Amino acid sequence: MTESLDRAAPAVLTIDLDAIAANWRLLCDRVAPAACAAVVKADAYGLGMDRVAPALRATGCGTFFVAQLEEGLALRRLLPDADIHVLNGPLAGTEAAFAAARLVPVLNSLEQMARWRESGSSGSCDLHLDTGMSRLGLPPEDVATLVADPTPLDGLDIDLLMSHLACADEAGHPMNANQLRDFEAWTARLATAGIGGRRCFANSSGIFLGAAGHFDLTRPGIALYGGNPTPESPNPMAQVVRLQGKILQVRRIDSPQTVGYGATHPACGPTRIATVAAGYADGYPRSLGGRATGFIGDHRVPAVGRISMDLTTFDVTDIPETLCRPGAAIDLIGPRNPVDDVAAAAGTIGYEILTALGRRYHRHYLGGSGR
Ligand SMILES: *Cc1c(COP(=O)(O)O)cnc(C)c1O
Repeated sequence: MTESLDRAAPAVLTIDLDAIAANWRLLCDRVAPAACAAVVKADAYGLGMDRVAPALRATGCGTFFVAQLEEGLALRRLLPDADIHVLNGPLAGTEAAFAAARLVPVLNSLEQMARWRESGSSGSCDLHLDTGMSRLGLPPEDVATLVADPTPLDGLDIDLLMSHLACADEAGHPMNANQLRDFEAWTARLATAGIGGRRCFANSSGIFLGAAGHFDLTRPGIALYGGNPTPESPNPMAQVVRLQGKILQVRRIDSPQTVGYGATHPACGPTRIATVAAGYADGYPRSLGGRATGFIGDHRVPAVGRISMDLTTFDVTDIPETLCRPGAAIDLIGPRNPVDDVAAAAGTIGYEILTALGRRYHRHYLGGSGR
């Protein structure tokens, strides 16, 4: 089926919406009685928010996080009844657009707070307390200011009090306990000043640090998409993404030659090189040159030479010729080389591999609504 459907496609990206839904349900079970939202920023980590968000909604997810207003507006069009939070908060002058689309802004500074209040919106908002990222959110001195005088919050309908972990993927990192302690202390102090809200703290990895960080609502992203939230242990999540590049040509090399730009890879003995239709313009990083591993079925094939813009070369010398004819597929990401392994080989993280997945791939969605 996939074969005939995608005959013309040089590379096929298969995204398993049922696996995303199963991952969300697994996290729900894990955090209960806390609730579980879904982070679908950056086009659902590159996998297509227009397909991913409805599939999550259909499986019961009612709360979503995006980073930017535009993403929130697009999600609102897809999901008229969802609870949508916008992590970056409102840029000046966008408050009315938030209110009109019933988007909940995460207020990250006293300045955003003042603007939201002045806009007179009756819609709810979130407060972000910075417990250690030094990126967005209220620093401790601003929290203290609010505790001493909560006037800047007068009239605001606060839904979430949130914070974000810096080192959640390193279970033993002391930052985790410090941030948890500060979040509990600061939210308790805010409560003494009459400022309350549902507490929201854990991302994907944070969920696996233990129940103390689950509070009322969790906000996983990468784990939904099959990334390992516990990098020091086997991946508890179902794999979501498979990327298959088609072989365009197989080159036999008998006398010494080199492969690719820069002539970096010497092919000495008899060698067969399969050239696949995906390259760095498709988000298959150039840093994978000489480091990537592809699979033809169960056969491991190393990428050799540099990754080109549109092409990657694999050494298939040891693979039966019948398996690597033009048109056959090499798994660039698949069951045996999951996204985290590809990321490690490229010197990056799964998040970057997913969000860089190219626009030229034929996208094939499995399961979800409408199929
Ligand atoms: C991206 C993001 C998340 C999701 O993080 P994952 O590690 O992908 O689970 C949660 N909270 C904030 C503030 C984020 O920016």
